[in-house]
Amino acid sequence: MIADKFDVFLFDLDGVIYIEGSPLPGAVESLKILREMGKTIRFLTNNPCTTQKKMVERLKKIGIEAHIEEIITAGQVTAQYLERENIKTAFILGDENLKWECKQAGIEIDSIINAEAVVVGWDDSLCFGDIKKAVQLIDNGAKFIGTNIDRNFPGKKGLLPAAGAIVKAVWTASEKKPIIIGKPYPYMFRKALEDLKASSKTIMIGDNYFSDILGAHQTGISAVLISEGKANKFPSARDFRNPDAAIPNLKGLFDDDVTVRKWILPHFPWPNDGVKAGVAGVIFDKSRKVLLMRRVDNGLWGIPSGHVEPGETVEEAIVREIREETGLKVKINRLIGIYSDPISQVFSYPDGKIDHFITTCFECETVGGKLIKRGEETLDVNYFDLSHLPKNLLPMHPTWLRDAIHKEKGSYVR
Ligand SMILES: [Mg+2]
Repeated sequence: MIADKFDVFLFDLDGVIYIEGSPLPGAVESLKILREMGKTIRFLTNNPCTTQKKMVERLKKIGIEAHIEEIITAGQVTAQYLERENIKTAFILGDENLKWECKQAGIEIDSIINAEAVVVGWDDSLCFGDIKKAVQLIDNGAKFIGTNIDRNFPGKKGLLPAAGAIVKAVWTASEKKPIIIGKPYPYMFRKALEDLKASSKTIMIGDNYFSDILGAHQTGISAVLISEGKANKFPSARDFRNPDAAIPNLKGLFDDDVTVRKWILPHFPWPNDGVKAGVAGVIFDKSRKVLLMRRVDNGLWGIPSGHVEPGETVEEAIVREIREETGLKVKINRLIGIYSDPISQVFSYPDGKIDHFITTCFECETVGGKLIKRGEETLDVNYFDLSHLPKNLLPMHPTWLRDAIHKEKGSYVR
């Protein structure tokens, strides 16, 4: 049973422990048994409209013992993040609990003209003027921080918009990606685990694929879904949102028939911005030397490459990219391969975007133009002998070059 296999239990609250103020079946007894077994318990909530103390009282009301240090709220860790980042002034788009947490962390939040940060949580009395102020501050350089990105939560009369709806409004208007503190982002998980032994066997129990399951998996933790019906299955076996087990309620933690898949963190980050089309081009000169360029963004050498723009074919895209990056006019000779392996084709960007590329690689031939050594995206361009390639070459390119040399074997899919 799950209870025997783990030492540390991280619980989401809403939909796992209680719903609308009433405990869910088995929650009270199961937590009691886990405590008797000596397990470590943490409660992680994305709700920014509460405090640790209020959560302890709320759990006590439904018969659950909890200690203040066991509660981790999105508001509390957001305030800790501001403090860590040495932020002194902030414009808070949130309720009195989030404001209280920020004040406790020494952040000035009143009469702010030029706040260093805009913090977006959940505010029932939000008006358009608040969004306008947040957007203008961000546009003037303030850091944009969201407590969480949850889209909605269940209310008595149906769905209600959660903090994510407000974060998205500011995001859309400011065109700046926020730093998100709550689940599924790592900061809240790190805070939950920071006082625990690294060797602890930890499991997350949650009811949300996009915050609890994905968040736990990004942190390298196994995750169990609470679901009355059959759990959804995301099509890819590597999908970080697929739970390692599903149980209808917390009684399932003691069910001998429930087994948990061991989550092994794949060697690529979760591509939160989806799958994109990429192109790359291998160009040989007359002496079979290959053209490589050193990129401005990472300082590494690689063959010319880029994205397919809307309205373009892959062939048009690579011809355009090569012209932009090197000044050369090329024609396509053949397809070398299509590369989609996430380990080499998932890229993280400094602004937090993570894209998975499917890259179509062609062999091209120069038919005109003039080689430009240095450009907007290029530090240097040169032809290299295949037996003397530069050391700081993009890691997937040696395979692509090998495939390009093995002409007779046709094209490759990796
Ligand atoms: Mg929940």
